[in-house]
Amino acid sequence: MNVQFSLDASTQPLLAILVNEDNINDVLSEPCFSKDLVQWVTEADFTGKDGTNIVLPSAALQNSGNVKFVLIIGGTDERTAAGTAGYTAKEKGIAGLSLYNFTNVEVSVAQTILGNYRWEKYQNKTKGNLESITLVMEDNATAATRGTTIANARNFARDLVNMPADDLYPESLADFALGLGSDSVEVEVWGVEKLKSENMIGTLAVGRGSSREPRFIHMHYTPTNKTENTNKVVLVGKGITFDAGGLSLKPSAGMQTMRCDMGGSAVVMGVFHALQALQPDIEVHGLIGAAENMCAADSFKLGDILTYRNGKTVEIHNTDAEGRLVLADCLCVGSELGADYMIDFATLTGACIVAIGEHYNAIFSNESDLIDSLENSADAVGERVWQLPLPNLYKKKLKGTWSDLKNIGGRSAGSITAALFLSEFVSDTKWAHVDIAGPAFLDSKFEHFQPGGTGTMVESVLHMLSK
Ligand SMILES: [Zn+2]
Repeated sequence: MNVQFSLDASTQPLLAILVNEDNINDVLSEPCFSKDLVQWVTEADFTGKDGTNIVLPSAALQNSGNVKFVLIIGGTDERTAAGTAGYTAKEKGIAGLSLYNFTNVEVSVAQTILGNYRWEKYQNKTKGNLESITLVMEDNATAATRGTTIANARNFARDLVNMPADDLYPESLADFALGLGSDSVEVEVWGVEKLKSENMIGTLAVGRGSSREPRFIHMHYTPTNKTENTNKVVLVGKGITFDAGGLSLKPSAGMQTMRCDMGGSAVVMGVFHALQALQPDIEVHGLIGAAENMCAADSFKLGDILTYRNGKTVEIHNTDAEGRLVLADCLCVGSELGADYMIDFATLTGACIVAIGEHYNAIFSNESDLIDSLENSADAVGERVWQLPLPNLYKKKLKGTWSDLKNIGGRSAGSITAALFLSEFVSDTKWAHVDIAGPAFLDSKFEHFQPGGTGTMVESVLHMLSK
């Protein structure tokens, strides 16, 4: 995306103007607009209320220049307003957009690009792409570049989620990770032999029923000026590239969008997409357990017992509770890295959507400051998180009959018992678990996000790492 600055509002075919109920008359009375503009919007009953917008012809300007449409957006939130501008440009197939009366450059650029996102690789009909954004204000190229970097990272995560499972499987996911290697990012991929020698038992078990072999991906970002005081964080992502449920087979309808079960790995890879450009002053490890959970002759079975690399044993009671089995491997490795804190991201439980709906990510942690940090970062970038408890009280639900643990805890508190299961594989590290089962994938448009992968939490994590 080409982003530039100009004090001339008439350089692009679509001009988006942000107003609210308090400033609408002042903004629309500015000299570049038609003297009749205030009267037109008043007659159309447009008052600048949150979430409303109106499209007018170029006659809304004194000198229309290149402008074909004027989009007046009501509201006080620049984030969703810029997203609406980007989304409208996409719907109209417009190549250039100006933003007028927007003040936060990073947010405006990022959300315009996110609103404009398309996933049309497999569609023959396409409209023209947005190629340039002009901010009608003084130059602030640094903020514009940062906004572009963040949006591209989140859109990369969306691309990964949207890709059909026949195109995105553990090996190809690992290839995308290898593509993120740079001066400051190293990437290592473990194949089956290495998974065996490293006792990554959960990843091997889940991946066993698929002709696509599992992988473990380790990305490592090192800041240029690393010292012994540099903080270290581990990000872990669930990378189930397709979840048929294994022998505990899902019904067809529940399987339809199960390519999105690698949404947690997309968060981690989205974050790494931006690290080379943003250069945050913190060391970051990204660990992804990638496997395809299929129903086949060699699938892992109910009653199987897995012995993990931290010595704990897990009896399988449902092969569709596979994400936690793969994450457990990653959390063991992550715990060995001596990080200041570790956060995992996973489309882990349907129970999470039952508990807090499709637009909230559930957060769990053994440290209140990590919860505060996640909440503050999510707030700052307009994402939604909600803390759920992690009580020892429910640990008995996970007690195995023939082993230390079983891999499901029964019907009640399903997201909490899943989080408690993960906690068994975290040692001596501050840790948070983010269940993104709701927001990771949209069945229909929400705010300025089109249906499909959303890249939820990428912005929050980048904010957390680089603020
Ligand atoms: Zn599953």
